[in-house]
Amino acid sequence: MIKSFDLGFSSIPAQKKATKGILHMLKIVKYPASILTKKAKEVEEITPDLLSFVSQMEIAMEKNQGVGLAAPQIGVSKQIILVRGERKNQVFFNPKIRSKDKKGKVDEEGCLSLPGLFLPIKRAERVQVFCLTKDGKPVLLLAEGLAARIFQHEIDHLLGKLIIERITPLQRWKIREELNEIRKKGRVQKK
Ligand SMILES: [Zn+2]
Repeated sequence: MIKSFDLGFSSIPAQKKATKGILHMLKIVKYPASILTKKAKEVEEITPDLLSFVSQMEIAMEKNQGVGLAAPQIGVSKQIILVRGERKNQVFFNPKIRSKDKKGKVDEEGCLSLPGLFLPIKRAERVQVFCLTKDGKPVLLLAEGLAARIFQHEIDHLLGKLIIERITPLQRWKIREELNEIRKKGRVQKK
């Protein structure tokens, strides 16, 4: 659940008339693409073009049944994330974690960029996130439970971090074959 202060979000109108070129852009970028390891750039101005891009992100997330999506996952290295809410999706620009609970909780997490892989990841149960709304308004919001997990996962993407970097070397060794398979498919997709 996301408790927000002065958020006033409305749902992002999904753009149905996507052109061929845009549809191509909507493909989810898979591991081991290098963009997934880069730090994303801050958004300087929220333009109509950027909001239209966000609508495309929303379509990509819905299509792939994700609960969250970060712009680098569709090939754009900018600090934009989408979080699926109970009723509507919300977009956040330049999100930064201000503070988080010390106590963490382990739960299974997947990632659209690592298809088929689910890993136990420890995350704080509550986080305070500072970000810009789609109106360019700076807000501080408090996310709990699943929403807190999604924020931490998506903000990790903006820092170039994937869930495979949040596990122990032993866990990573255990999934080495699965990861190899994903890597092979990811490389094929690139061509
Ligand atoms: Zn992910």
